[in-house]
Amino acid sequence: MSSVEPSADGALVLFSGGQDSTACLAWALDRYERVETVGFDYGQRHIVEMEARQAVRSAMIARFPAWAARLGEDHVIDIRGFGAVAESALTADREIEMTQRGLPSTFVPGRNLVFLTYAAALADRRGLTALVGGMCETDFSGYPDCRRDTLDALQTALNLGMDRDFRVETPLMWLTKAQTWALASRLGGEALVEITIADSHTCYRGERGERHAWGHGCGTCPACALRAAGYEAWSAAGRPEQMA
Ligand code: ZN
Repeated sequence: MSSVEPSADGALVLFSGGQDSTACLAWALDRYERVETVGFDYGQRHIVEMEARQAVRSAMIARFPAWAARLGEDHVIDIRGFGAVAESALTADREIEMTQRGLPSTFVPGRNLVFLTYAAALADRRGLTALVGGMCETDFSGYPDCRRDTLDALQTALNLGMDRDFRVETPLMWLTKAQTWALASRLGGEALVEITIADSHTCYRGERGERHAWGHGCGTCPACALRAAGYEAWSAAGRPEQMA
């Protein structure tokens, strides 16, 4: 199922334990001989997200021996100070709604800028050159820090400011959620699809709830709705490994 000759470069994957970052982790393990993961504790009320990270990593190690040999350390960075500044529906007990700026209240201003700056500092210390994230312009919720233009500018700033040659890689940037399911199938077959359904966590409300066809979650928040719709579209197409 491997698609390319692996690069001797190392990759650091921004890994939240969600569907998107699970696909990104598989993508990186398919391409790089050395892969580490980083997660951010920014005071999220969802401990379940941190538990999903370990569940997905463990399941990948158990099901994919070739990937297990490449998967290195996991890092968790405490950025609760940022979370306190950027308080929003994800980090405080507020309802998820649209704000006057036309952004969902789940928007944490500049979150990906902060994540990638910390990730680059860590990657510098760990000798890793690729920074892999699940940012996406296709099915996203209008978050301006998910735009590829934003990330191109940040990559330039990081390389100037740290005198490095980092690449900010975003394999999901132009994929729909249905195409992300197809990508998981292409990279890791049914085993990876099953890990994504059983172990990854995307729900904004932090609910595990019952197991739906597409995985666990409340089923009604914007993240669950996107994930469910993507799964249904992929299933309706016959669960292909490539989707137009
Ligand atoms: Zn939900």
